[in-house]
Amino acid sequence: MDPKIPYAYFVEEERTKSGVVENIATVFLTNRECPWKCLMCDLWKNTLDHSVSKGDIPNQMEYALDRLPKTTQIKLYNSGSFFDKNAIPPQDLLPIANILNSFERVIVECHPSLIDERVLTFNDQISGNLEIAMGLECVHPDVLDKLNKGMDLEQFREKASFLNHHGIAIRVFTLLRPPFLSEEEGIEWGKKTLDFAFENQVEVAVVIPTRAWNGALEALMESGDFHPPEISSLEQVTAYGIKMGKARIFADLWDIDIFSNCNHCLAHRKKRLTMMNELQVIPPVIACNHCGNSH
Ligand code: SF4
Ligand SMILES: [Zn+2]
Repeated sequence: MDPKIPYAYFVEEERTKSGVVENIATVFLTNRECPWKCLMCDLWKNTLDHSVSKGDIPNQMEYALDRLPKTTQIKLYNSGSFFDKNAIPPQDLLPIANILNSFERVIVECHPSLIDERVLTFNDQISGNLEIAMGLECVHPDVLDKLNKGMDLEQFREKASFLNHHGIAIRVFTLLRPPFLSEEEGIEWGKKTLDFAFENQVEVAVVIPTRAWNGALEALMESGDFHPPEISSLEQVTAYGIKMGKARIFADLWDIDIFSNCNHCLAHRKKRLTMMNELQVIPPVIACNHCGNSH
């Protein structure tokens, strides 16, 4: 990895608060490895063995923004926590805020432990609205503990309340069928995790089907403690969230083909999930004669 260049940058479409599908600049900043090392995380793959130098992050942002079409919203993901002083040098926060001047919404990710006054300062420095993305993962107490997330639900509640109190939007990442759960339990706890997110007044909840892509999850597959979820479970949990009508719900469709073995219904299911994401509606359930899946 080169500390002067973001490891990925592109424009993606997402339904925004106004109900319109808009382009969002998405920049994956090259950064040091996150110190938490959660069981399911694969973000360490694109990291440095050391912290970046002062000025590297603003340079990376300018590198990406010079090459992307103009948008009004931006996601800045750094394979860890934006407010980790060893990830983003604190002296860079003001220059970063200045580069972000033209954006109406700025989305950054952060572990709940690092949500404090620094977020408020940065919120004051940017001209647009700030949205903080946090990994809520799964509210099953044993599973959350085993994921090594270094967070409990009480702490999440406290930090969400802090952000809500200061008018800062919250986005959560939730895991569908993390390790140690059956398919049915995965669906049940996926819905419970969304309920918890709604209680904490999140604006956006992303449902991420758990993927084996980091070594640890492959080992848990071999021991029988993990199995990736089915695409129809993703449909069920996303539909549940949309039906509740309390936040925008997005199914994470990256690499979605690996969650289906059926060539007959996969394309229909992908289309159904895309409609859910873009329109926040629940299209008719797909019943497939080939795989027998009628969810
Ligand atoms: S806190 Fe987030 S980035 Fe850090 S290890 Fe856990 S999942 Fe990965
Ligand atoms: Zn099928």
